[in-house]
Amino acid sequence: MSRLLSRAGDAEDWKLDVALRPGSFGEFVGQARVVQNLSVYIAAARQRGEAMDHLLLSGLPGLGKTTLAQLVARELGVGFKATSGPVIERPADLAGLLTNLQPRDVLFIDEIHRVPVTVEEYLYSAMEDYILNILIDQGPQARSIKVDLPPFTLVGATTREGLLTSPFRSRFGVVERLEPYPWEDLSAIVRRSAKILETKIEEPAAECIARRSRGTPRLANRFLRRIRDVAQVRRAASITSEIADEGLGMLGVDGHGLDAMDRKILETLVRQGGKPVGLKTVAVTVGEEEETIEEVYEPYLIQNGWLLKTPKGRRPTEAAFTLLGQRPPLMGPPSGDLFEPGG
Ligand code: ADP
Repeated sequence: MSRLLSRAGDAEDWKLDVALRPGSFGEFVGQARVVQNLSVYIAAARQRGEAMDHLLLSGLPGLGKTTLAQLVARELGVGFKATSGPVIERPADLAGLLTNLQPRDVLFIDEIHRVPVTVEEYLYSAMEDYILNILIDQGPQARSIKVDLPPFTLVGATTREGLLTSPFRSRFGVVERLEPYPWEDLSAIVRRSAKILETKIEEPAAECIARRSRGTPRLANRFLRRIRDVAQVRRAASITSEIADEGLGMLGVDGHGLDAMDRKILETLVRQGGKPVGLKTVAVTVGEEEETIEEVYEPYLIQNGWLLKTPKGRRPTEAAFTLLGQRPPLMGPPSGDLFEPGG
């Protein structure tokens, strides 16, 4: 996972991440439609005294899926247990988690697209009927025992909704997609975080950080922390846009919000003169994992119109050539249908 967007930097970063996490829907900035929808479902479940329907949250890393899952539990007034797809290796791991829930609790599974298929099948009856059919013994002695579970709400988070099988996806009554935040929301998040960190920040500096945070609160917060260090060393009373600029420069983030890896990816594509380049080739050339390129870097390059995903591979747009100070070749329309961004 990218250095910029990975969950934990160092231990200190992790502590701050928790401190900056909104504690109520009121403190959660932006994503108004999602918050509004969830508030209705939560209120209805509370009125009926039932577990809320299972919820799937999708969106790029750092957009607030974990935060929202915690807030859902809090607003429902129920317990919250968290785990992640790759950690649930065997059906027994799942059984352990589910049988330990209190009625109406929220079970949060991060990276739910990485739940092994064998476990996924057990989840179906758990989600639908609150029942686990556990197979014991093998061969002719094999029999299954039925375990009743407390009613619960599964909240799954995924950065790759397209990788979920359709039977799995269809078992979530509510599916919400988080979109990248407009800079105005990110600026509000930066100012809120600065207040919690007891750091003064000027409005234009908050805007400067917000505009270069690729629509992602986690990134905006991480930039703020590093820039706060710069302000401290410079003995500045508050973060000005000059200090924000300096800090972002030290982090290798340019005026477009691109970091060194983004530029490497675009340079790799531009070097091929506009011909499609396979993801594998890009990954090997820039020295980053394919998954990280797809999940972390490409979405921003696509949103800003620098990169196209075509069936034959990745292509730079004319704007990408211009961005890198090169003259675009005569480029025809991309061959074939474009893939969905992030799909
Ligand atoms: P995800 O689970 O999607 O990767 P997180 O929920 O871990 O993202 O969010 C990353 C960080 O960004 C959190 O620590 C939180 O401080 C901050 N954050 C995310 N969304 C918001 C928001 N809407 N308002 C304020 N802070 C947010």
